Amino acid sequence: MEDNMESKSKDLFIEVKDLHVEFDVRAGIVKAVDGMFLEIRRGQTVGVIGESGCGKSVTARAIMNMIPKPGKITGGEILYHRRNRETGEVQTIDITKLDPDGEIIRQIRGGEIGMIFQEPMSSLTPVYTAGQHIHEAVSLHRLIPVKKLGDQMVETIVAHRKVTKEEAREIAIEMLRKVGIPKPEQRVDSYPHQLSGGQRQRVMIAIALSCQPEMLIADEPTTALDVSIEAQILDVMRDLQNTMDMAIMFITHNLGVVAEMAEEIVVMYMGKQVERARVVDLFYKPKHPYTQALLRSIPRIGKKSDVRLATIEGMVPDPFHLPTGCVFHPRCPMFMPGKCDKIEPSNIQVDDHHWARCLLYEEVKV
Ligand code: SF4
Repeated sequence: MEDNMESKSKDLFIEVKDLHVEFDVRAGIVKAVDGMFLEIRRGQTVGVIGESGCGKSVTARAIMNMIPKPGKITGGEILYHRRNRETGEVQTIDITKLDPDGEIIRQIRGGEIGMIFQEPMSSLTPVYTAGQHIHEAVSLHRLIPVKKLGDQMVETIVAHRKVTKEEAREIAIEMLRKVGIPKPEQRVDSYPHQLSGGQRQRVMIAIALSCQPEMLIADEPTTALDVSIEAQILDVMRDLQNTMDMAIMFITHNLGVVAEMAEEIVVMYMGKQVERARVVDLFYKPKHPYTQALLRSIPRIGKKSDVRLATIEGMVPDPFHLPTGCVFHPRCPMFMPGKCDKIEPSNIQVDDHHWARCLLYEEVKV
């Protein structure tokens, strides 16, 4: 038992513990992440699903310590078990305590933890200003319009891997080939405006992967891409995962992709983890009424690679006026009056490796 515990903690890569992120805007305070828990191990893929605005992307940015003002982390810990690539020694760092512009987080971002987005401008929270969008784009190595792709890729690869510029150029060409860019030997000397939107997206993915991160945060990375290109990119991710023991946090609306890629799924609603389970258990034995509603209209998971989250009844609550008790209660078909609108459920273990935040599983006195 002790041995198991020890190997379990050795494998841990990121632990998010009771994370709170708030945005203090003129209209009030938005609790974008409100008590989030997440564990990701080396070599593991964890899928994170939930409707837009549920806090998935903000959690991802908190892991990179990139919450722009007026947002800030107001509670909790993000423990990064950082392994020295030479000695193998593991040191635990609380990312929330790091200076967001400091040396340590800059080494981690893009190098040890890579991040790819579908479309940064639309995937961010609406309370960001245009200036903050631009700041974020630059700090995430987004494509610089006046630089050739090859130069941008070589600079990024050399900054994060011990290779020469010539080797970095070879790595860049090979990675462009892997993500399906035609004639990569020529394309590497193109400028971003000479590529289509889909090709630019693939180049961003190629840059993130060519740094061989130990963990990849993929935030809707392939949604805008053609299905065959998507399959190709998912293959590249899996290859890297197998050869490098890379962990992946996969944020998506596509349940087909998440069923194919992830071992474990976390469902988020209004900034909270409402359910966490292994993929098969979550799809076939969902416990939380929100997850059940999301999955209800799906005929058969795994049949199609393009199965989107269902739209569920009712409106997402106004973030400035959250419902009392369980935040899902105004939309919940299992609503228990006098209980669900009064008591906030805790995160309860409902089965082997299965947690749900719902009063149906909790014995509480009203
Ligand atoms: Fe539904 Fe009540 Fe469970 Fe919330 S606590 S999900 S309202 S049954």
